[in-house]
Amino acid sequence: MAGNDSALKCLMDALREAGVKLTHQRLQIVTELLETEGHPSVGEIYGAVREKIPSISLDTVYRTMRTLSGLGLIQPVGSGSERIRFDTDLRPHHHFVCCVCGEAYDFTCPDLDSIPVPRQAEALGSVRGTRVEVRGVCNRCLKKGTAE
Ligand SMILES: [Zn+2]
Ligand SMILES: [Zn+2]
Repeated sequence: MAGNDSALKCLMDALREAGVKLTHQRLQIVTELLETEGHPSVGEIYGAVREKIPSISLDTVYRTMRTLSGLGLIQPVGSGSERIRFDTDLRPHHHFVCCVCGEAYDFTCPDLDSIPVPRQAEALGSVRGTRVEVRGVCNRCLKKGTAE
C-alpha cells in the first residue's frame, strides 16, 4: 500500500478517535509505514523516519507502532526469534513466513479467507477474521543454501 492519501487519513482518524495525540513524529511514522512496501520492521521504519527527524528515538517509533498494532491498524507478522514486522495492508491475505530470514510474503486465497472458525477459537472471544501463516524456507533462502 504505497503512499495512499485515503489510507493515511483513515489511520489518522482512527488514532484521533482512540485519543492518541497526532504529533509531528507520529504523523511521520504513519506516513513512512504507509509508504513502505511489504512488512517493515520497527528498525526499518526508525531508519527511514530518522532521515527526516534526526532527533527521533527508537523507543518513540516502537511505542507508536505498538499503539497502532493495539488498535488493530497494523498487524504484527511472524513471531519468536524473528524481527517482528508489521503489515499495513489489512485486506484479507495470508503470509508465508520464512524461518531463516524472517521475511513475510503475502498471498491471497479465497478458500482460506472463508475457512470455518473452530468452535474452540470462537469460545475465546469475538472473531473478526482469520489469517493463515504458512511457515517454511523462502525461495531466496533455498537458493542461497544450494549455492553455498
Ligand atoms: Zn528466507
Ligand atoms: Zn501481509
